[in-house]
Amino acid sequence: MKSYDVFLPCYSVGPDCYRAVPRIARRFGTKAVVIGGKTAMAKARGALLDAVEGSGLSVTDFVWYGGNSTYENVEALTENPAVRGADIIFGVGGGRAVDTSKVVCDRLGKPLFAFPTIASNCASCTAIAVIYHQDGTLQEYYTLKTPPDHTFIHTGIIAQAPETLFWAGIGDALSKEPEVLLATRGAEMFHTLLVGAQLSRACGAPLFEYGLQALRDCRAGKVSFALEQVVLDIIVSTGLVSNLTSSSEYYYNSSLAHCFYNSVSLAGKAGAHLHGEIVSFGILCLLACDNRPEELEKYAEFNLSLGLPVCLGDLDLSAEDLPAILEKAPSVTEWKCVPYPMTRERFKNGILRADALGQKLKVQAKARLIL
Ligand SMILES: [Zn+2]
Repeated sequence: MKSYDVFLPCYSVGPDCYRAVPRIARRFGTKAVVIGGKTAMAKARGALLDAVEGSGLSVTDFVWYGGNSTYENVEALTENPAVRGADIIFGVGGGRAVDTSKVVCDRLGKPLFAFPTIASNCASCTAIAVIYHQDGTLQEYYTLKTPPDHTFIHTGIIAQAPETLFWAGIGDALSKEPEVLLATRGAEMFHTLLVGAQLSRACGAPLFEYGLQALRDCRAGKVSFALEQVVLDIIVSTGLVSNLTSSSEYYYNSSLAHCFYNSVSLAGKAGAHLHGEIVSFGILCLLACDNRPEELEKYAEFNLSLGLPVCLGDLDLSAEDLPAILEKAPSVTEWKCVPYPMTRERFKNGILRADALGQKLKVQAKARLIL
């Protein structure tokens, strides 16, 4: 039997969670440098500096990550003297800033603490970095050996983040349960994968239960129980599943919902729509392709209640865009993350069935409003 390692995320959560930074950093060193987005660093700066004051841990500099997670930005950061001289790196911001910090830490062999300032994805808890070309198109997934050493989820800062990013984050997190359960169906369930698939079952319910309230609370900038449940779902639950269901040797972390997103994106048809927004309609396509009408209706109703897309029109797409999207689909990694051979015909029918149901539900909702 081969030996292997599994690394899972550690995290602190709450409006005062940065206070734990010096205690947790003690094992790693005394000098930290922040790498992050400009807005994110401005939001986190005060709380971070307050937390380390008088602790023996110092923040030596705040360095902008460069605006996108590209290898060019990684190179520049690994050459930066402030970064090279630090014992620990604090990656502050959304997915791209944290992903850039991950690759920098991997290259320099330094520990990483992640400080997500928005809840729009699980980047701050995963061992994957999404790398883009300088022109903004997707380049590849960079697989790391470990996720960040610790993740500090400051709900006070996250509650102030733009509501649309949180809304799209819900759409993205919602995909984890149906995607992992489809991708692992029929797979040989070795220990790590079995645990990951079971944990994916904990990703859907909190979103259905608290999603709408959490969105309202985010709109009001209010830290609440509902907001915390959804933030933990988006960042931690899906992150745990990601670490357990993907490695450099296997990938069960996503399926047809992300296949839909990646195909739309590769076909150049994503427009201004957010990742999670497109993925959330991809979930409906997955459920239609897999022929599960009851769940399809349940997820579509939920999407509708949150204003997430339920039909192609909601993404500024139509049936006329399908040939270009279907053309790209088989080249996407997730095309093969299904327990049966996929065909363009099956994918097309799934997309059209999801679209038809979504349109019907919208008409019914409108009629209810008129009545
Ligand atoms: Zn995603």
